[in-house]
Amino acid sequence: MIGGLAAALLPAVEKAGVVWFGCTGRVRRIPAGSTSLVQIESHGLGTIAMVDAPEQHYARYYEGFSNSTLWPLLHSRPELSVNCPENYASYCAMNAYMARMLVTFGGESSRIWVHDYHFLPLGRELRRLGVAREIGFFLHTPWPTAEIIASLPQYRELVDAMLSYDLIGFQTEVDRNNFADLLRKTFHIHDSGLRFSGRHGACRLAAFPIGIDAQQFADRAAQAAGDPDVRRLRASIEASRLVIGVDRIDYSKGLLERIAAFEHLLDRFHRLKRRLSMLQIAIPSRSNIEPYRHLQRGLARAVGEVNAKYGEADWTPIRYLNKGFCQSTLAGFYRSAAVGLVTPLRDGMNLVCKEYVAAQDPADPGVLVLSKFAGASQQLSAALQVDPQDTEQVARQIASALMMPLEERRARWQQMMDGLLQHSIHSWFFDFMRALVAAEREHPSLPAQTLGVLPSAEQEFAAAHR
Ligand code: UDP
Repeated sequence: MIGGLAAALLPAVEKAGVVWFGCTGRVRRIPAGSTSLVQIESHGLGTIAMVDAPEQHYARYYEGFSNSTLWPLLHSRPELSVNCPENYASYCAMNAYMARMLVTFGGESSRIWVHDYHFLPLGRELRRLGVAREIGFFLHTPWPTAEIIASLPQYRELVDAMLSYDLIGFQTEVDRNNFADLLRKTFHIHDSGLRFSGRHGACRLAAFPIGIDAQQFADRAAQAAGDPDVRRLRASIEASRLVIGVDRIDYSKGLLERIAAFEHLLDRFHRLKRRLSMLQIAIPSRSNIEPYRHLQRGLARAVGEVNAKYGEADWTPIRYLNKGFCQSTLAGFYRSAAVGLVTPLRDGMNLVCKEYVAAQDPADPGVLVLSKFAGASQQLSAALQVDPQDTEQVARQIASALMMPLEERRARWQQMMDGLLQHSIHSWFFDFMRALVAAEREHPSLPAQTLGVLPSAEQEFAAAHR
């Protein structure tokens, strides 16, 4: 199984021939200021290059500042955000290390696209090393309101560092506008059409909602009947109906609230007993961080209580799995479920909901029940949208989904599928690259020979997807 970011980016590496430069997650003793080995493997038309991380900084960088300070803030949970200056120092050191490695490996002349909250200040570090080429950044998480981000002691320094990028991409217009408002009202930087001029030069902001390869998911789902896991799942459902949820165990995913809503549904609609089960795939993540371990225990308890209260000798209301599956199997699971239940409290985009839609049988599609706080809700307006904290509403919408006439299910599904096919992962990659090229053309200090490199990459990319 792979995570959302990898799922989104691997197709771009495979088909557009780019080099993905990242960290193995393995640590080793690396003296301050030095570099480490780069491991390289080819992947489709592209390459994946990975380095080990400095042992003295990695935990404070990854579990510390990235996932215990930034992640909760970016998901509007300031009460969970840990304030630790040593973690921040390691976060900066790790960014400086990655910048050094990148320049050593890729030279100063490659076009660079930085991804996600682990690397907010990487652009500044690259500029310090003399990289003059355009650098883009994409944030896969939400960006919160100014009030929330200002509770981070280092927010001024970090936001200032982000202005080293030529282009910053966000998942939604709401995230982009939150960042633009911060620059205007707190940093007093003026813009012309979301192009902000600061001491580092111009920085453009734009929204690029990330997509999936919907056609590939649809094909996988159609072929999944032969998958042994899918076959066994289908045999076990028989005449009953299935609700599916697929998430990492993370407090942003609203899993406890979802279990409570499912319990409420069973409470309210007795006739659903034995006729409905929920399959919740819940993959443990970030288990070195206490709030995550706490949630893992709390979820297992909540599921156990519902199953103990409502279960029968021949019926388990919630099938709860703490393991992952490959995407081909998942596609078959999605297609077997009458309802896709995706109810994060806050999510940058959420790919699972898009995959659920893409995997449906066009002749008899299931219904998506989707949190209005997932970035994807902007595009999937034909889903049944809910407030994930409103137990009664979520329960009612699951019941509506189960009773929805075929004609309405088809109409809603078609509308969403058309949007997914149109705004694919490929067009997301291409749109961002095109905007980065536009930023390059505006960049007065770039040497002339660096211009015009991407258009050929664009053509290769377009050719690969014709
Ligand atoms: N995923 C997977 N196998 C699993 C569960 C999930 O490959 O058993 C993939 C799923 O297909 C999706 C990604 O993990 O592409 C989760 O992405 P999402 O944006 O929904 O959530 P994230 O974990 O990135 O917050």
